[in-house]
Amino acid sequence: MTATDLKSTAKPRPNPVGPPTAAPGGFHGSHQVLDAVPVVGTRAELAAARRALTGRVVLVPTMGALHEGHRALMRAAAAIGDHVVVSIFVNPTQFGPEEDLDRYPRTPWADLDMCAEEGVALVFMPDCLQMYGPELGIRVDGGALANRLEGVVRPGHFSGVLTVVAKLFGLFDPDTAVFGEKDYQQFVLIRAMSRELALGVDVYGVPTVRESDGLALSSRNRYLDDQQRVVAGALSRALRAGADEGSRGGAAVLIAAQTVLEAQPGLELDYLALTDPDLGPAPESGPGRLLVAARVGTTRLIDNLPVTLKAPSSPEGEVRH
Ligand code: AMP
Repeated sequence: MTATDLKSTAKPRPNPVGPPTAAPGGFHGSHQVLDAVPVVGTRAELAAARRALTGRVVLVPTMGALHEGHRALMRAAAAIGDHVVVSIFVNPTQFGPEEDLDRYPRTPWADLDMCAEEGVALVFMPDCLQMYGPELGIRVDGGALANRLEGVVRPGHFSGVLTVVAKLFGLFDPDTAVFGEKDYQQFVLIRAMSRELALGVDVYGVPTVRESDGLALSSRNRYLDDQQRVVAGALSRALRAGADEGSRGGAAVLIAAQTVLEAQPGLELDYLALTDPDLGPAPESGPGRLLVAARVGTTRLIDNLPVTLKAPSSPEGEVRH
């Protein structure tokens, strides 16, 4: 049976909506080796399937609703190692109480098709019970960096992300894990976690995949209506305008980006920040990172770009609204 065949069956959806105590998903307790991609749903099945993989294993953690950005991660992973393994799990602990956990898009069959197309060796689609229960509630604390930028607007978000990634590292025992630079603060924090907690996983970043007009691909873009989709384009335009001013220094970068954002009706800015590549203070010259977060209607979007700063300047570092 292939992933495509499965579309016509009436199995319950894997990875159901809900808190950690939610009912088990469709793959719970069964190990279904599809023609094209093996799928497991429990920790025990994952451990057995993992033991059978020899050579370098590269993990791509995802929350599903896979798009071309995720495909780029799988391709980067394939270029690094011998086996690409993918997790698909909508992690409830990284969503705030007012966030979109319940309506987060779930497209498991299309996701499996993409994994099959990309020659993925193993897909782990656990339910919440597999990932979180029963437990004492041990959580990873991301330190000061987890409380800045995204952490201001989404308190506790990175603790949820780091905790689930640490669990996935333990369960998969990968040599390398691949993350998108689209979620740049997440990438920096996970890389730091692996280093500081000596998890032994190389963390590799993949540049952001974009639509033709520059909008960063995101599972949340499907929330946007046609008008909002046009408004959302201002994020990448602002970053581009800022990055183009890099040779004139950090202040010019921030002003150029902010000018584009302020000229766009329908966009509510959370922050615009210029930092160094590790999200520390922006340097006067050399590599930097320009990050933006904004809301378009009820949809929250983030994006970032590398910036090369040349002329000495004294940027404010961050514009917060
Ligand atoms: P998600 O499923 O949204 O949690 O994302 C899973 C992984 O895909 C994360 O490492 C993201 O940073 C990455 N990702 C999401 N969107 C993109 C994109 N447009 N380009 C590259 N990577 C992405």
